[in-house]
Amino acid sequence: MSHNPNEVPRIIDNNANAQYGSVKWNPLKSIWITSIYLAAFIGGYYYFTWPAFAFYLISTAAVLCFGHSLGMHRRLIHNSFETPLWLECIMVYMGVMVGLGGPFTMIRTHDMRDWAQRQKYCHDYFAHRQKFWKDYFWQIHCDIKLDNPPEFEFEANVVNSRFYKFIEKTAMLQPLPWMLLFYVIGGWPLVFWGVYARIATTVTGHWLIGYFAHSDDAVDWHVTTAGVQGHNVKFTGLITMGECWHNNHHAFPGSAKIGIYEGQADPGWWVLKALEKAGLAWNIQTHENLPKRQGLYYIGQKELKASSCIFSGKALGN
Ligand SMILES: [Zn+2]
Ligand SMILES: [Zn+2]
Repeated sequence: MSHNPNEVPRIIDNNANAQYGSVKWNPLKSIWITSIYLAAFIGGYYYFTWPAFAFYLISTAAVLCFGHSLGMHRRLIHNSFETPLWLECIMVYMGVMVGLGGPFTMIRTHDMRDWAQRQKYCHDYFAHRQKFWKDYFWQIHCDIKLDNPPEFEFEANVVNSRFYKFIEKTAMLQPLPWMLLFYVIGGWPLVFWGVYARIATTVTGHWLIGYFAHSDDAVDWHVTTAGVQGHNVKFTGLITMGECWHNNHHAFPGSAKIGIYEGQADPGWWVLKALEKAGLAWNIQTHENLPKRQGLYYIGQKELKASSCIFSGKALGN
């Protein structure tokens, strides 16, 4: 599908309203994550071993990098690079392991928030505007239902994929076969650390970064047309696989490179460059070759190095 990478192409606005709606407790989601928390804390405590802990660290990094950041976010949601279909499917499957839902859920959740944040006014839910614990409860245990939501249209090749349909339907059950396998290989320590602790970490971490990425911290770009701005969450580049440079992401949503300044660690980008070298990724979009986003202004202190960005001037867009 060809589209302007700065737009949210799957949303059909139709006079929809991003501001009015209600946040409702989602029992299934809430009980699912609460049982994962309980198992992670209790089982993780009683069955702690160093090898299981090492496995937890490695598997968490793998699903976040290949699955969430590259497969779901940079490939499926933003189409910011191309890759063989088999590799896309593997990465998207790994993204399901993060515990936030299947591919359709991820695309829809992301795009609804992206669309809402571009409006002049949007509900506190989309902007993470409420206090820390209330926002936690909303984002992890509830859903928002807008009074007048936009329509949504998936790309045909994604929505008709039998594989994506299958992992969408079974997303919450997908950890089960892995639990069985890990139990056979390493017993309970591997089950509690390799599945429960990992999912508890990725689901909670995803919300935490989203919360701080819309509160206040470093900002280099301002999008005048959007009601909500993105912020960079410092010192978290490595553990978020580069996703924490959210101010850059709001400025250049279609860029596969999220850490665009020196010192902004972006492991997802490093891995993507390695895939490109191996011939497994191509047509990689970055802030250097994307069209300008409407209303984007540079307000930071440090200029991008001339070689790394064509936008070394002040104002963009209009
Ligand atoms: Zn955002
Ligand atoms: Zn995004």
